[in-house]
Amino acid sequence: MRNYPRTHLKAAAFLVVSLILIMALSPSELHEAKTQVPVSLALPFGDTNLTVATDPVIVDPLAINPNAPQATTNHTQTSFTVRRGDNLSTLFDRAGLTPQELYLVMSLGEDVSHLSKIQPGQTVIFTRDKTGQFSGLQYKVNAERTLHVEREESYFVAQWRHVEPEVLISFRQAEITSEAPSLFHAGMKAGLSDNIVMQLSYIFQWDISFALDLRQGDQFTLLFEEKYLDGKKTGDGRIVAAEFINMKKQYQAVLYTDSNGDTNYYAPDGRSLRKAFIRDPVHFSHVSSGFNPKRLHPIHKRVMPHRGIDYAAMTGTPVLAAGDGKVAIARQNNASGKYIVIQHGEQYTTKYLHLSAFARGIHGGARVKQGQTIGYVGSTGWSTGPHLHYEFLVGGVHRNPRTVKLPQAEPVQRAELARFTRETSPVLAQLASMAGNLQLAAGDQAR
Ligand SMILES: [Zn+2]
Repeated sequence: MRNYPRTHLKAAAFLVVSLILIMALSPSELHEAKTQVPVSLALPFGDTNLTVATDPVIVDPLAINPNAPQATTNHTQTSFTVRRGDNLSTLFDRAGLTPQELYLVMSLGEDVSHLSKIQPGQTVIFTRDKTGQFSGLQYKVNAERTLHVEREESYFVAQWRHVEPEVLISFRQAEITSEAPSLFHAGMKAGLSDNIVMQLSYIFQWDISFALDLRQGDQFTLLFEEKYLDGKKTGDGRIVAAEFINMKKQYQAVLYTDSNGDTNYYAPDGRSLRKAFIRDPVHFSHVSSGFNPKRLHPIHKRVMPHRGIDYAAMTGTPVLAAGDGKVAIARQNNASGKYIVIQHGEQYTTKYLHLSAFARGIHGGARVKQGQTIGYVGSTGWSTGPHLHYEFLVGGVHRNPRTVKLPQAEPVQRAELARFTRETSPVLAQLASMAGNLQLAAGDQAR
């Protein structure tokens, strides 16, 4: 058994409430836990965010005795673990099956196309009937999805079987301290996965600069989905509600799927959390030099205004477009190194300097979406080390991206506000009670 952090035990105490919450979410919404990713989440790290930990529990008879197939009622199953360099054809060959049998399976089309993407470590189980004839296969893609191919008379049929994970709502609270000064450290200390910490940083990316604005004493409280199969945790789902106290200011977010099926995070009053620009174009970095009109330049050793923000980050860290727009410039010069200028409508311009490389498809005239990777942190041009120099201009004038007022996205539609309130208030009440409980027990959580 794993060691549960103390917060987890507290979560267990609230299990009953959690179950009520789960029931409050409709089955279709639970289903979406597998596929629905808030828009911004899908961006820099791809779908690794929501990858379900796969841990096949199928017994591999070959591991015990390669020559002893496992006898079931009247069929014989033999399990093969995919090795590096394997493809379906080599696997069929190892199983003693013919190219014709492979062809019969693959001719099932779309349903079995996943079989051409088998990964080392995955398992394919081949079945033979009592006469020794190939009668089907099973391929477990992850803990939740298995492809079954079965012989029916003279042909094969393919079928995906889906196990719905049990979704429990868990909660955690964490605090920014001198020992845990970053979101990652604080999250780690609270036992949160990287996936959840990353989701949190994306939920509040329009309001809070996690590179600039974190302070000791900042706190966050989360309610999030944990997925279980056969009592075993298979991964985290989505954050369903979150509160972040940043520099004594409270920010709250709640997940809401509107009647069109669009899922987004909103403030409790229905305002969208999304804005036209995100605060930091680099996630998980720290600011090495802020907006400062009277800075002594590190290379030129004289006062040169610093009209941007420097984000120190490892070379290769993705740099994100702060907002939707059009690339005006993507080229290289002596001072700026590889740099990108994005025009966002008439008024706004953002600049990204010292890149190691441009992302694919980034060139003058290219359209970009907010959060899209446009390049990678580097140290080209006049630069003392890997960092992103970021500038934000309004009407051609440099502004501090940390403090500039940003245009806001659409709130929940007026006609839907009652539904929004009805569906989100239980979760928000839960969040408030969690946050309140823990603040009362402040001594307890300061570990
Ligand atoms: Zn700079």
